[in-house]
Amino acid sequence: MVADTIRLIESELPDKAKLIAVTKTKPVELLREAYDAGCRRFGENKVQEMADKQPQLPADVEWHLIGHLQTNKVKYIASFVALVHSVDSLKLLQEVNKQAAKHNRIIDCLLQIYIADEETKFGLSADEAEALLQAPELDGLPNIRIIGLMGLATNTDDDAKIRREFRSLKQLYDKLGQIQRPMLHFQELSMGMSNDYHIALEEGSTLVRVGSAIFGSR
Ligand SMILES: *Cc1c(COP(=O)(O)O)cnc(C)c1O
Repeated sequence: MVADTIRLIESELPDKAKLIAVTKTKPVELLREAYDAGCRRFGENKVQEMADKQPQLPADVEWHLIGHLQTNKVKYIASFVALVHSVDSLKLLQEVNKQAAKHNRIIDCLLQIYIADEETKFGLSADEAEALLQAPELDGLPNIRIIGLMGLATNTDDDAKIRREFRSLKQLYDKLGQIQRPMLHFQELSMGMSNDYHIALEEGSTLVRVGSAIFGSR
């Protein structure tokens, strides 16, 4: 089941898009099953859970932190995390840089952008994201790279609305990708989940984060 669904989704992906299997709350056995089906990218939303699972899977797994990250928890994932999707402040970037330096790494990050009209979702506005990418303080952070943006569409059946939100995120991605600075390497646009990844791919997503469609509901 898991293997078939992974292969089906992989077969739907355009060339430059990649699948992140979202494994939050799921047992390690299920991650192994996904691994055996060829999946090498896993997304978790909690630091502790990701840090617990990481040593139990092969070293060639890419671990993607997709949930809100508190500065005091960066240290638990800094040695191995492949991409932090949820950066929403300069303070967090500074802490990621500090912890990455301790491990002699450069950690890739995405800025999380607020595109949905729901109260609960984290993220930066377009203006805040631009200000952050222009901030002089970034020059002092040699151990991070910002490689794109992430966003969550509104949880709705209104496909047209979802499409508008993804399209606006793609437009912002294209605009902010013009900014030339050494730590900016825009190449990833993380958008799309189980319910809306087809729309996200049509609107230019390069990273779809799919959980329940593969592993069942949580
Ligand atoms: C849980 C989660 C997903 C996956 O959601 P599904 O609906 O299960 O595909 C994607 N992105 C984020 C940020 C999540 O927290």
